[in-house]
Amino acid sequence: MIVAIDGPSGSGKSSTARAVAEELGGLFVDTGAMYRATSLYLSRLGLERADEVGPEHVRDLDVRLEVSGNDEGDRLRVLLGSEDVSQEIRKEYAGRLASEFAQSDCVRKAMVARQQMMAREVSSCGGTVVMEGRDIGTVVFPQADVKIFMTADDRVRASRRRAELLDQGQDVPLQSILDDMRARDARDRSRLQAPLVKAVDAIGLDTTGLDFEEQVGRIVKIVTERQSQMQRGTN
Ligand code: C5P
Repeated sequence: MIVAIDGPSGSGKSSTARAVAEELGGLFVDTGAMYRATSLYLSRLGLERADEVGPEHVRDLDVRLEVSGNDEGDRLRVLLGSEDVSQEIRKEYAGRLASEFAQSDCVRKAMVARQQMMAREVSSCGGTVVMEGRDIGTVVFPQADVKIFMTADDRVRASRRRAELLDQGQDVPLQSILDDMRARDARDRSRLQAPLVKAVDAIGLDTTGLDFEEQVGRIVKIVTERQSQMQRGTN
């Protein structure tokens, strides 16, 4: 079963999708992390803009998501070749780079192919995949079994992001996060390739007034209802 969760940054997608996957015993795929790591790679090649990227730049790209478990639970590691870039890609500059390079057709094709392969490996043998991003329900898996589109008020999203960054030891002013987030959203929504848009058949979830447990609970309920419909053979 494939669960697609899309929405703008700070809508709570990533942490929610991870918890939903954990609760359902499924695989969590953070596609934003893949765009971030790829963009780090491209910037290290000396590229600055999406229109400079050609097929030769993504040919040797080796981005992997690896789940490693310990006593505190599962941890997602993002690897660029053998380098663990999990921390580096969470920095603000990496988000800006990702939003720039995500406009490249070559980058998107490379990402979509990898994402489809990862999910098919798991879902074809009966597993559940919870994949989150911007274009999962529209481009990567238009036939996903469940599609959720998460949104939240701008200011709420920016304060959540600020709290996350503080947790990681980065003290960034709220206004600068808000400005950056709005610029990134505008770019994600207006780009020609796979813009951020709600799929017509996605279920909208506004998380402005919801706490984390409520967000997770609502999605898990939607998914389990869908699972029983599928088992009964109804649509
Ligand atoms: O979700 P996250 O903030 O980590 O994503 C970073 C950037 O990667 C987004 O601003 C967006 O431009 C891009 N992205 C995308 N498609 C996805 C996931 C992320 O274009 N499926």
